[in-house]
Amino acid sequence: MAQIIDGKSVALQIKLEVKEQVDRLRSEYKVIPGLAVVLVGDDVGSVTYVRNKQKACDDVGIHSRTFSFSSDVEQKELEILILELNHNAQYNGILVQMPLPKRIDSRSLLNMIDEHKDVDGLLPSNMGRLVIGEEALYPCTPLGIMMLLQRYSIPVSGAHVVIIGRSTLVGKPLALMMLAANATVTMCHTKTRDLPGIVKQADILVAAAGRLGLVKGEWIKQGAVVIDVGMNRSPGGKLAGDVEFEQAEKRASFITPVPGGVGPMTIAMLMRNTLIATERQIR
Ligand code: NAP
Repeated sequence: MAQIIDGKSVALQIKLEVKEQVDRLRSEYKVIPGLAVVLVGDDVGSVTYVRNKQKACDDVGIHSRTFSFSSDVEQKELEILILELNHNAQYNGILVQMPLPKRIDSRSLLNMIDEHKDVDGLLPSNMGRLVIGEEALYPCTPLGIMMLLQRYSIPVSGAHVVIIGRSTLVGKPLALMMLAANATVTMCHTKTRDLPGIVKQADILVAAAGRLGLVKGEWIKQGAVVIDVGMNRSPGGKLAGDVEFEQAEKRASFITPVPGGVGPMTIAMLMRNTLIATERQIR
């Protein structure tokens, strides 16, 4: 039976560590890290995510403000806000909550964020630095996965890591982080032939497809580590991952639950990125 990777408790530990450093910045430099969140519309998921981020900021002592707009906001108005926030020293991090309404050109808006305040790590300059292995702000979900493996002392070097999903948010940056940690990486997507055959070879499997129950328990190699990033609603309305948990748990050595695995780590790493951005800005 697999050991459950408790993302909630690791995330709590990370937040405590961030809080300690936030307190140090306040007492030594009289600086309070600040995070600006831009929220457009009233999508239930987005509103919940933003509320959770705000709460995490409160927990660790980061000053945070949400700039909310109705879904018919003009692109220009959002652009003006981003430019103002870039120059506002109160905010060390800027985050635009996705998804934005289709009318808005998300990429061009994101690209206006000052790269030093890009706490989601989604700007081409920060992604580029990840490719060449330079210091940068890196995306939170893949960072959270690497941190989970590290805190559970799961070796990555030399492991065959199979990642299902090639998004800019999760799969691609995670593959680069795994490569930098000396894993042998295989990327899978909707055009991959023989997904079960590839998954069966994984020492570490990361499922980030967003497809309920895509990965069957019998595909998991005995003793493999299973990281489930997927967040799906089961027909009964419960939150569930991409992996058939009950069956996979019997074969894996470690497994993340959904909820309570990767999810809490994403927010913890956002807090950590905001701290890192602040430290670099006051250096
Ligand atoms: P995305 O942009 O929709 O990307 C999904 C990826 O999965 C694509 O590369 C797609 O392949 C691949 N895929 C989809 N169905 C597949 C299948 N049947 N076989 C093989 N590959 C398949 O999604 P995302 O933003 O990366 O998010 C993925 C999941 O993670 C979602 O459930 C999301 O809610 C969750 N998520 C969780 C967190 C967290 O903090 N826990 C954070 C971010 C995302 P193609 O490229 O060929 O289309």
